[in-house]
Amino acid sequence: MRRLLSVSGVNLGACDAQSPGSIHAQADMCGCCGAVGLPVLALTMRNMVRDDLQSLVDEGFRFCSTPECQVVYFDNGSRRYFSKADLKVRVGIKETEHPVPVCYCLGVTEADILRAIVENGCCNTLEDVKHYTGARTGRECRLKNPSGRCCEAHVRSVIERGLAVRRAGKGHVRTGQTHE
Ligand SMILES: [Zn+2]
Repeated sequence: MRRLLSVSGVNLGACDAQSPGSIHAQADMCGCCGAVGLPVLALTMRNMVRDDLQSLVDEGFRFCSTPECQVVYFDNGSRRYFSKADLKVRVGIKETEHPVPVCYCLGVTEADILRAIVENGCCNTLEDVKHYTGARTGRECRLKNPSGRCCEAHVRSVIERGLAVRRAGKGHVRTGQTHE
């Protein structure tokens, strides 16, 4: 079995077990999880990738948005895979422990949004959350969000989760904060 390595040598070999032979997948599919990646600009990547790996950034990469997949950016042609460990920012959709960034322009985390909905009970809609937390009101997604895209889908998913918790009523509210 051929091992899949990230640009800094992180072993992504576990991927092979999930999708054997996938490193030969089509150009637009993540060589690790097999999901279709979203095109991303080198401009975006340069703000995310560790300084010592900048020379490996190029046009033509894609962003993998699978939460469980370690790969963030991939180019199957050149066999270059940037894993979470190769970045200097946390990729919110691939993190489960606080802080989980949602809106990179305004620095809003999942915990901020969940707190507004569940604990403060002030927000019911995307508009409320935009007004109260500032999430989804930035204009620099291309430069600040690892996907190079707007955070709206992520914000909406967090709102749904928060509303579900609030509907369920009493009990301890999980805001993604973990204390060991
Ligand atoms: Zn992937």
